[in-house]
Amino acid sequence: MIHYSDLQIVLQEVPGQISLCFSITGCPLRCKGCHSPFLWKKGMGTPLTDETFVHHIERYKSMISCVLFMGGEWEEEDLIHKLQIAHTYGLYTCLYTGLNDEEVSPFIREELTWIKTGRWREELGGLKEKTTNQRFVEVQTGELLNHLFQK
Ligand code: SF4
Repeated sequence: MIHYSDLQIVLQEVPGQISLCFSITGCPLRCKGCHSPFLWKKGMGTPLTDETFVHHIERYKSMISCVLFMGGEWEEEDLIHKLQIAHTYGLYTCLYTGLNDEEVSPFIREELTWIKTGRWREELGGLKEKTTNQRFVEVQTGELLNHLFQK
């Protein structure tokens, strides 16, 4: 079962969208310099049951256009199910993961509008930096959209 530590409405993580963002706990990747090491502990936070997820969507659906998961790919079946629920509300979906492109399950990708991949590497920076190893991609077309984050 997916657990989350935090829920926020975010404007910048998915360009052009108002996203309901769930920070999922239990990230196994342990990137050096991780901005959120409190997310490493599995089972920390609140269980994201279907009822809880639907409750949050119902509450915010008039404000949002997208549901964003910060992690959760390690609970593949559960994540896919949540993404499918988001689709029934006509919402776009996005996943931020530290995995590389080829490491992400194709079954998860099928349910995503956008994906951000790549481990955090301090010396290369995040999406705002041209040097970054991370990639923000429109899944269906494969188009790289990093330029939307860069000035
Ligand atoms: S993927 Fe993100 S949350 Fe996970 S260890 Fe790396 S920086 Fe931290």
